[in-house]
Order: sequence, then C-alpha cells, then structure tokens
Amino acid sequence: MGQLASLDQRVSALEQQQRRRPVVVCGPSGVGKGTLLTRLLGEYPDDFGFSVSHTTRAPRVGEQGGVHYHFCSKEDMEAMIARGEFIEHARVHSNMYGTSVAAVRAVSEAGKACLLDIDVQGAESVKKTDLCARFLFVAPPSMEDLEKRLRGRGTETEEKVQLRMRNARGEMAYLDKPGFFDTVIVNDDLDVAYLRLKEALLLVPPAEPAGEGRG
Ligand code: ADP
Ligand code: 5GP
Repeated sequence: MGQLASLDQRVSALEQQQRRRPVVVCGPSGVGKGTLLTRLLGEYPDDFGFSVSHTTRAPRVGEQGGVHYHFCSKEDMEAMIARGEFIEHARVHSNMYGTSVAAVRAVSEAGKACLLDIDVQGAESVKKTDLCARFLFVAPPSMEDLEKRLRGRGTETEEKVQLRMRNARGEMAYLDKPGFFDTVIVNDDLDVAYLRLKEALLLVPPAEPAGEGRG
C-alpha cells in the first residue's frame, strides 16, 4: 500500500513535470497565436505564464512594455546578445526579437509552464537547448484567411503586410519537416482551435507501460 502511494506520488510528480514543460508556439503572423495564448493565460493564470520577449519593433497601440514585449533599441539588444542574456534571438520581419534567460526563468520560478510565442528560427534554437520544450504550430485555414486577418488587425502598413505574407510561406514550409512540431492546430473556428490547444497542453499523455505492472 505504502509502495503504491509512493508510486502514485512519483507518477503525479512526473505528470506535473510534463505539464510544466515550456511550450513553443509558432505560426505565421496574423494566424491567431496571440489571441489563443491570451485566452489560455486568462483561463489558466496559475498554470501558464508568458515569456515576455525583447524586440526592437515599435509598440502597437495598446501594447505595454514588460507585458507584451520588452521594447528596446537595437543597441540595447546587441549589448544583451553580447552578454549572452538570450536563449535565442532572431531577425524577424526586419526587426530583432529575442527570448531572454530571465524571461523564461521568471515563469518557471513561478511554477508555471512557459509559453513562448516565437518564430521558427527561434524554435530551431530552442530545440538545441536543454529546455525540453514542446513545439506547437498554429496554421491558418488558408493563406487568403491569413491575409484577411493580418489586414483586419489593422496594425501593419501595406508594405509590412506584404513582408509578413512573404515570410508566412517560410513559416508554413516548416510543416513539411517531419516531427518538428508535436502538435499542429488549424485556427479556423476560434473556439474549436482553443479547445484543441487545451487538449494538447492540459491533457498529459498516458505514461509508458511499466512492463512489471504497478507496485
Ligand atoms: P498572431 O499573434 O498570430 O500574429 P493575432 O492573435 O494577433 O495573431 O490575430 C490576428 C487577427 O486575427 C486578430 O485581429 C484576431 O482577432 C483575428 N483572429 C484570431 N483568430 C481568429 C479566427 N479563428 N477567426 C477569425 N479571426 C481570428
Ligand atoms: P509581432 O511583431 O507580430 O509581435 O511578432 C512577429 C513575429 O515575431 C511572430 O512570429 C512572433 O512569434 C515572433 N517573435 C516574437 N517574439 C520572439 C522572440 O523572442 N524570438 C523569436 N525568434 N521570434 C519572436
């Protein structure tokens, strides 16, 4: 009985560890990553935390420094890179973006699973670290829908829409890399996509059969 209880405790500790693995969320700009993650963070504030990236891009209306991003100059970002303060960094849509060690540490020290909304170059870098992250891709139902959403958001100039749509093709090409992503979610109907996201992140996959049975 005592042995069983301790096995249960070990299983529960492993499940907790699994749930707290960082989650890298990729997908083309405008697909709805931010929308999905904001909803998840709102519903499960004790389970998930957002990795606040650094970026050299200008804040959008409504974006707050330290919440959505740490907005900084190119010089500050380069100095941080030189000091080795980033887990990964990349040039995306003509700006610099990076995930600092401090951003991920702040979330994990709060006992939460860290959500990283980063591009595929960043995902490649995270794969080379010991973060043991899960990798999720959010895909649009079509490129036409993607463009409509990007324009509908009203945050980008025509030139920036074109640039982001060109880069979207490169992001989508990662879907052809076998095994790169653990989960792919098509964000067609938002409620369905959100349900899929919760299924992927909240349900713990069944443990491997132990071979010898419990106890
Ligand atoms: P990302 O963070 O991937 O760049 P956003 O979350 O900012 O994308 O979403 C881009 C736009 O698309 C926003 O205006 C958002 O409200 C809208 N959007 C998100 N998901 C859907 C969906 N399933 N159907 C229609 N519009 C959506
Ligand atoms: P946006 O300018 O729309 O907020 O983000 C543009 C792109 O940059 C998105 O694909 C987003 O995932 C990516 N991005 C945001 N933060 C980071 C980061 O820290 N590192 C990397 N590599 N990409 C990021």
